[in-house]
Amino acid sequence: MNYISTRGAGFGERHTFSDILLGGLAKDGGLYLPAEYPRITAQELTAWRSLSYADLAYEILRKFSDDISDEDLRALTRRTYTANTYSNVRHHESASQITPLKTLGEEGGTTVSLLELSNGPTLAFKDMAMQLLGNLFEYTLAKEGQTLNILGATSGDTGSAAEYAMRGKQGVRVFMLSPHQKMSAFQTAQMFSLQDPNIFNLAVVGNFDNCQDIVKAVSNDHAFKAANKIGTVNSINWARVVAQVVYYFKGYFAATKSNAERVSFTVPSGNFGNVCAGHIARMMGLPIEQLVVATNENDVLDEFFRTGIYRVRTAAETYHTTSPSMDISKASNFERFVFDLLGRDPARVLQLFRDVEEKGGFDLAASGDFARVEEFGFVSGRSSHADRVDTIRDVFERYGTMIDTHTADGLKVAREHLKPGVPMIVLETAQPIKFGETIREALEREPERPAAFIGIEELPQKFDIVAAEAGLVKAYIAERI
Ligand SMILES: *Cc1c(COP(=O)(O)O)cnc(C)c1O
Repeated sequence: MNYISTRGAGFGERHTFSDILLGGLAKDGGLYLPAEYPRITAQELTAWRSLSYADLAYEILRKFSDDISDEDLRALTRRTYTANTYSNVRHHESASQITPLKTLGEEGGTTVSLLELSNGPTLAFKDMAMQLLGNLFEYTLAKEGQTLNILGATSGDTGSAAEYAMRGKQGVRVFMLSPHQKMSAFQTAQMFSLQDPNIFNLAVVGNFDNCQDIVKAVSNDHAFKAANKIGTVNSINWARVVAQVVYYFKGYFAATKSNAERVSFTVPSGNFGNVCAGHIARMMGLPIEQLVVATNENDVLDEFFRTGIYRVRTAAETYHTTSPSMDISKASNFERFVFDLLGRDPARVLQLFRDVEEKGGFDLAASGDFARVEEFGFVSGRSSHADRVDTIRDVFERYGTMIDTHTADGLKVAREHLKPGVPMIVLETAQPIKFGETIREALEREPERPAAFIGIEELPQKFDIVAAEAGLVKAYIAERI
């Protein structure tokens, strides 16, 4: 499997899965994609139906990572996807399924269900990919005799998923910046209660934007970055995207009895990483009818799929919502889809994303390419705070199921795109406990708390407070590696 950049560099060069695993953007500023998507055969689809999650992950990943031996990859996927790691299930009988499918009921002439992706250690779907990344990093670094220092900024989900994936991993340290006293008590406790010596929490006196600016400043200091082996685990990382392909297959098998059936997926979206994986599953041949992109008030993606106009927002135009993990001003994985939409023409992708930088966006409405959005199965919708509250209340009253704010955005939009006879699977991206305030507003009761998290706020916390200055963060890192 060879990887190419969406902006054209590397055509003719060879990049393996392991080559791009630890990096971010391609040298030309583009994103990596396989030179071609592997197509699955009808026989494979039939054979995969009965596999465990770990073995399905192995079958899918080996198509993208042929430079890792089958034996090693099988061991990595089996170590990653264990019932022990994904143990925060709400129904005891589903503990071994990793991503259980929960049927809500019949609506609009079809069955609506939730694919539970948030039973991992940090109760958000990011664990699904990040846990694999932790094991892949440790494996690859050991093979190459290397070490890596991951620097990141978080306002919640990504940072804790990264820390729980990398804790105790040989050769890896994590330096995670978060805005001091601005995360919820629950999210703070999740991150700061980790006592592992390779995890460093830096509470930055400032806001999330200050944290992101520091990460950018440190990453732009190329000499410091190289000398200190600084890397990232952000959502453009290819291994994260490909790990997410697996649960589209698993969800499809759980919702159907034969490969003649088609299903639709609704994906609560921010940076377009999750739904990009759905697109790839479809390109591989999984019988997906529709991929429904659900946004919150930050509707950059909904606007594109409705109108063909991609217009990134400024910081001032970006809302702070009650589904905060979807609060984005631009969608960092979107370029991967645009590359496919334009028939894989890197020169045009380069031009369009130059326009994004220089003019704040591009308009494909008049081009024939936009009409192809439908061929790729994409539709979209948006949700607001009032929609979330209504949906959380409705689902609780109707089905006795408590859902989080992001999943509520998904279900609200899914209901606008139901097709009779085509099962609709909404990806459940987090558990309600992480967003207690909105649960209390909607239901006037406390969110469900998985047993492992009872009393987490009382545990001792390990973190250091730093002023919002890149120089201080650099010194902090240099002293500890
Ligand atoms: C990250 C996140 C999303 C958005 O996923 P993308 O891959 O960025 O589109 C949705 N919901 C939750 C809970 C998340 O943590």
